[in-house]
Amino acid sequence: MSTPFWAPPPEKYPGRPPAKADVLIIGGGIAGTSLLWHLTNRRVDAVLVEREHIAWGASGRNAGFLLAGVASSYAEAVRTYGREKARELWEITNENHDRMIEAARGQEVGHRRLGTAILPSGEDERALLIESEQLLQEDSFQARWDGRRLINPRDGEINPAAMVGALARQAKPGAIREGVHVTSMTPRARDVVLTAGEDECEAGVVILATNAYTPQLVPSVKIQPTRAQMLATAPESTTTIDIPVYSHFGYRYWRQLATGEVLIGGWRDTTLETEKTLDAEPTAEIQKQLDRAVRELGAKAEVTHRWAGTMGFTESGLPMAGPLEGMPHVYICAGFTGHGMGFAFMTAKQVAEMI
Ligand SMILES: Cc1cc2nc3c(=O)[nH]c(=O)nc-3n(C[C@H](O)[C@H](O)[C@H](O)COP(=O)(O)OP(=O)(O)OC[C@H]3O[C@@H](n4cnc5c(N)ncnc54)[C@H](O)[C@@H]3O)c2cc1C
Repeated sequence: MSTPFWAPPPEKYPGRPPAKADVLIIGGGIAGTSLLWHLTNRRVDAVLVEREHIAWGASGRNAGFLLAGVASSYAEAVRTYGREKARELWEITNENHDRMIEAARGQEVGHRRLGTAILPSGEDERALLIESEQLLQEDSFQARWDGRRLINPRDGEINPAAMVGALARQAKPGAIREGVHVTSMTPRARDVVLTAGEDECEAGVVILATNAYTPQLVPSVKIQPTRAQMLATAPESTTTIDIPVYSHFGYRYWRQLATGEVLIGGWRDTTLETEKTLDAEPTAEIQKQLDRAVRELGAKAEVTHRWAGTMGFTESGLPMAGPLEGMPHVYICAGFTGHGMGFAFMTAKQVAEMI
């Protein structure tokens, strides 16, 4: 059974969809609550509907790394997207980090800026990270190869469910409605009709903040649901991990909280095909590897939580933001390819500005 480590935000927002809305956001993760935050701050009337509860999806189940950039190293990103685009991606994610924390407005979201370390899995990755250090410094980003790992001092960590809760708490009364499962969308000339159970809503604009689940509503959207698994230990009496670590081209990651718990996740690289799924249950195969790895890191405390969550991968590796082709009045803000905490707040700002 999936038992996420992070407690969901304590507030409950039960509701039904409105009969009419200027803007209707579907999905109550970091993307949906960021959209609501940006729209509310621009005095746009928006309602967010979520089929379970806010932070139920990947946003309440992730590792909470606030990393600069995409999954690949800067050197690989420069090769894939070009130097200018890579620089832009790193700038956006750095800004995402700062702006999202500011938006919490002093609420406790477990934020620390210890930096992160990218630990190479072998010679190939080591060469890419050494090259990345040089390219990053040339482009005025902070990065340091310490002989063993690439240190990104500006990176941080967070309690992701608390962050979603902090954004949600700033919404107008009635703007969030949990327990609303949108099952169909019909775009018309001037609006979109949504169905949720027996309710119907006419929305001027709809924004899909449904990440991995988007193809369930719009099958033509190319987002691949992808499972990621984690475990957490009880608090350790000593510090075994100095800063959050990311390794094996982003496939493996671990951190230790200020309160001592060790969180470790990933290892999807050992069984890529089985993890292309919407099934959010942990598997014995990957959990066995996480068990072994956490002991190798020196953690001794018992394992208290094992869980999985569903990420949404795009073909380009970049988020989808903007109007959806062939569906008037429908926008998308999704496809964060395992990096939604690093991207979604600024991607939501971009979409809110379009609207
Ligand atoms: C184990 C794991 C570790 C990760 N680690 C990190 C990390 O360290 N750093 C990082 O940046 N990212 C990480 N990620 C990725 C990150 O969690 C996601 O990119 C991010 O949470 C996506 O946010 P979202 O709001 O787009 O989607 P979600 O949080 O998945 O929210 C989508 C919501 O839409 C709702 N929904 C879907 N369909 C409907 C419908 N039809 N009607 C109503 N509601 C609907 C769902 O219930 C869900 O709550 C990790 C992911 C996992 C699973």
